[in-house]
Amino acid sequence: MFSVSRVLFQALSASKGMKRVASRYGLRHERSFARRFVAGESVADAIAVARRIEAAGMTQTLDYLGESVATMAEADLATRAHIGILNQIANADVGRNVSLKLTQVGLTVDRATCVDNLRRILDPAGTHGFFVRIDMEDSRYTQVTLDIFETVWQLGYQNTGVALQSYLPRSVQDARRMNQLGARVRLVKGAYREPGKVAYRSKAQVDAAFVEIMRLLLTEGVSPAIATHDPAMIDATRSFAAEKGIAPDRYEFQMLYGIRRDLQASLASQGCRVRVYVPFGGEWFPYFMRRLGERPANVGFVLRSLLSER
Ligand SMILES: Cc1cc2nc3c(=O)[nH]c(=O)nc-3n(C[C@H](O)[C@H](O)[C@H](O)COP(=O)(O)OP(=O)(O)OC[C@H]3O[C@@H](n4cnc5c(N)ncnc54)[C@H](O)[C@@H]3O)c2cc1C
Repeated sequence: MFSVSRVLFQALSASKGMKRVASRYGLRHERSFARRFVAGESVADAIAVARRIEAAGMTQTLDYLGESVATMAEADLATRAHIGILNQIANADVGRNVSLKLTQVGLTVDRATCVDNLRRILDPAGTHGFFVRIDMEDSRYTQVTLDIFETVWQLGYQNTGVALQSYLPRSVQDARRMNQLGARVRLVKGAYREPGKVAYRSKAQVDAAFVEIMRLLLTEGVSPAIATHDPAMIDATRSFAAEKGIAPDRYEFQMLYGIRRDLQASLASQGCRVRVYVPFGGEWFPYFMRRLGERPANVGFVLRSLLSER
């Protein structure tokens, strides 16, 4: 699971030089290399992509990229940016669903501030009928993310849900807890490089756990999102739902913008609910590097795009 490429790209994502060069070229034109996975820098770019996705019979969640801010001032800036973005989306005729990371709104700076900032976002989100998904980050933040989620949930913010990663053995229990609360879960395999003592290392184990949690969510959960591009996981979900008589509108598949577009369209045309996760914004570099690390063939795609720009 933790391939050499994942290790390499995680390391490269910390490189300031790489980031500078990539930022200069990545989204420059309509055809620049990062555009395959990132909608653009502005919320207007994201809304334009959202319209195209909806016209194709799917839904979307918009993610204003950013993570690991280092100061209160940066966390405040990101929080204000989110609030402004909610207003812009609310004024556009697209679905109201966003995703965010807690380290973007201050988790690594101060936990109480992070909760306050999250509430500053959830308040207007609630007023405008948004659903807010809290992404799951690396395992240093799993417990605190779930704790903060439960804190805001118990305060009455139920227009929100979390993501759980099947590479973490603990996620089975976490899924049971979320089902008890009636909270919406997005199930993913997990995108970070984790130590062997906290995460499964083999694809077989990660996949088996994915299927186990998928079953828990489909039978006991609320509107689960099965987020994967893996045809085996998608087939397992559809077969299980059919076997248990669970209608296709009781759950949804989610995929990332630019990945397996063929599969997205094919599932939608077969009556499955498909939501596309659309990242946008200036801080796209770590997200982009995680996508490269997942699939080395993406590097060839980037190099070809770069060469064709010259
Ligand atoms: C909507 C959504 C939200 C997510 N949110 C989170 C989150 O909050 N936290 C988190 O840790 N992770 C998140 N992820 C990422 C996830 O954890 C995986 O890293 C990622 O989805 C790849 O795993 P996979 O399930 O697609 O299966 P894999 O077994 O990795 O891949 C299956 C197939 O999908 C295709 N594929 C997968 N990745 C790529 C790629 N980068 N480029 C091209 N093709 C690819 C390939 O055809 C591959 O053979 C999210 C993923 C999705 C779809």
